[in-house]
Amino acid sequence: MRIGSKPFYKLLLFALIALVLIMAVTITLNATRLHHAIQERTFSYVTDVTRQLTADIDNRIQKVMVDLSSLCDSLMHLDSPDALSDFLQRKTEMLGFTSIVYIGADGTVSKAASGIEEPLSLPGVQASLQGNTGVSFLNGEDILYTIPVILNEEVAGVLGGIRSKANMQELISTDCFSGTGLTCIIDSGGSVVISPTQVDPFLQLDSLFTSSPEGKTARSIRRMQEDMVSGQSGIFSFRSASGSDLILSYNPLSHFSWVLLTLVPSDVIASHVNGSMFWLYGIIGVVVVLMLLTLFALYASQRYHYRQMEEAAFTDRVTGGMTNAAFQLKCESLLPKAPANTYCIALMNIRNFKLINEHFGSEHGNDVLACIMHTLQKSMDGAEGFASRADADSFFLCLKSGTREEVARKMRQLTDSICAEVVKLRWYLGAPYSFSLQTGAYIVDNPSLEITIMQDRASMACRSRSSFEDGSCKFYDDSMLRRMRREEELNMLFESALEHHEFVVTLQPKVRLSDERIGGAEALVRWVHPQQGMIYPGEFIPLFEQNGRICRLDLYIFEEVCRTLHAWQQAGKPLFPVSVNLSRQHFSDPHFLDTYVEIATRYEIPRDMLELELTESIFFDDQGIENTKQQIKEMHRLGFRCSLDDFGSGYSSLGLLVEFDIDVIKLDRRFFLDISNAKSRDVIASIVELAHRIGLSTVAEGIETQEQLDLLKGIGCDMVQGYIYSKPLSVAEFEVWFQSREQQAG
Ligand code: C2E
Ligand code: CA
Ligand code: CA
Repeated sequence: MRIGSKPFYKLLLFALIALVLIMAVTITLNATRLHHAIQERTFSYVTDVTRQLTADIDNRIQKVMVDLSSLCDSLMHLDSPDALSDFLQRKTEMLGFTSIVYIGADGTVSKAASGIEEPLSLPGVQASLQGNTGVSFLNGEDILYTIPVILNEEVAGVLGGIRSKANMQELISTDCFSGTGLTCIIDSGGSVVISPTQVDPFLQLDSLFTSSPEGKTARSIRRMQEDMVSGQSGIFSFRSASGSDLILSYNPLSHFSWVLLTLVPSDVIASHVNGSMFWLYGIIGVVVVLMLLTLFALYASQRYHYRQMEEAAFTDRVTGGMTNAAFQLKCESLLPKAPANTYCIALMNIRNFKLINEHFGSEHGNDVLACIMHTLQKSMDGAEGFASRADADSFFLCLKSGTREEVARKMRQLTDSICAEVVKLRWYLGAPYSFSLQTGAYIVDNPSLEITIMQDRASMACRSRSSFEDGSCKFYDDSMLRRMRREEELNMLFESALEHHEFVVTLQPKVRLSDERIGGAEALVRWVHPQQGMIYPGEFIPLFEQNGRICRLDLYIFEEVCRTLHAWQQAGKPLFPVSVNLSRQHFSDPHFLDTYVEIATRYEIPRDMLELELTESIFFDDQGIENTKQQIKEMHRLGFRCSLDDFGSGYSSLGLLVEFDIDVIKLDRRFFLDISNAKSRDVIASIVELAHRIGLSTVAEGIETQEQLDLLKGIGCDMVQGYIYSKPLSVAEFEVWFQSREQQAG
């Protein structure tokens, strides 16, 4: 997965979200663990405090009982009711009772309690007459402690001590739990014996129990009831009806099946911690939400940018159609699944598109491109195929056609409709430019190939045409690939060939027809490769023309020619004009002639002994006619001769002869292929005559037969270059040929 790619960003985003969630879960788990630890700590704290309180209450009751029993012994020694009353009166204050009464088994009471009706029915009295101690409520306000008074091993009466309930209340309403707790004492029947002030919170337990008899709180209460019966203590937490979290602790007292109930808020310890926990949870929540929002924002912005990038990458700005990237993606999803020879990838190239831009401006150039795309889209509905703009002026098409005939037919239809649409453009009307397209196609016989390779094959086919071929679609075949590999090989070998002088000059004589003597020679290059042997210019010149290497080769040949002429000059041999071929590529450099001058000067060659051959195609080049005219003028100013090569092989505009300042025209060999035809002979004669009339000399190229020679002699052609006299010869061979020719003539 590529860093920065869409899947990478997705993965990164998911990883970040997962990380945030893991962090949130970990923090929450830790917080929960802390919460539990605090709850345990709270339980044990409440248990400790309530146990202590229980022990205190037990002690208090115990002390009261001890105090009362200490009186019992003394009672027996008092001999009169008055003495008893006095004694009890004194002890009442001393021991902190409201009053102390003696109730005899017969119902008699001591003086202080004489107002009590039916003393035997006071709570606890009967039980104490049975020998038990007891603590009971009296009128709901006071507490009556009763102990049996034993005389001669029999219960003689009951000593009762009355104390205010407030005493006990004071004890249970201590300031434990920072005043937040509530304590009360209940008896085994569940009735409140002593409560501080408020019992409502305890009563809520009842309503919780009844509202949800199977709930957790109800279960806890049930367990508490069982524990109370078996005299065990316990603790549990619950949520009150008002929604606050509380802890209830129950501890049986040692006396009278009483139980001390203590109710405390569950955050009694953790009130601060809970506050902090609340903030912690809050902050975690906010941070998680913020992080998720940030991630979401990042994701959204990344998606937005990705979409924009996707749009920029997949939509062609100029035509509004697909880009090549989109085209390739679509092909990748379609072609590998299809059987061989189902689809074809084609390239459509606008011939001389640069001229449209130059003539009409790039805005109109873009109009043409958009018009082409529009027409393509309109002409091919989805099933038939789709198109994209590949680069400046070419379009790739994917067509659902698998035979050459069908593809050729469709391509012709498409190019026809495009041409028809383009010439309809308003600004185009009457333009001195003929719009045409060239096309090449690869029928997908191997669907497993990469799309770029298929596209290369289509463009290879498109490029394979010569400039004079018709506009029919060219099809890729494997020989093109072989040719391309060969071209690559030659390109690679070029530098070393130049360095090792593998390029060799051959000279082909030009013979003057007037006296059959040498009138000049043309330098033609041969590549003598140490392993591959002779490589002819037809194989490498067009290639080096394409990549610009031709300029260096031309200069190399020019220098070799100068070196040979210089050697002849030094040897005192007669000189004659030698022509070199000049590629059209030189004309893009306005100063190219400087180097030619420099070389000629260095070898001290008279300039009129050097002729530069130009093919007429340079007049139709992008550099512009005016530029070419000026360069030719400059050639003459510098003293070089200039010939127009291959006249008659292409456009053959006679107008050029007048317009351009040339010295020689070289008639292409195809003029002489059919001289049995009278019309052909007339054309040749007219051209030679016209040339002479405007002061140009004529050279006939590729002359092989006596018949051709006779014709040329008859019409007054100046010179002949052809196999009839000689093939191109090495310099040494040429010197021999020249020698024998001169001897024959002389
Ligand atoms: P070109 O300039 O038209 O050269 C004439 C071509 O015709 C030469 O082919 C020559 O060998 C061939 N030829 C001459 N007489 C006859 C004949 O009687 N019959 C036939 N069939 N052919 C004949 P070559 O040497 O193969 O060169 C081919 C082309 O390569 C040349 O055509 C020229 O355009 C180009 N070329 C050759 N050397 C150079 C060079 O140094 N620089 C550049 N730029 N182009 C070169
Ligand atoms: Ca030539
Ligand atoms: Ca020629």
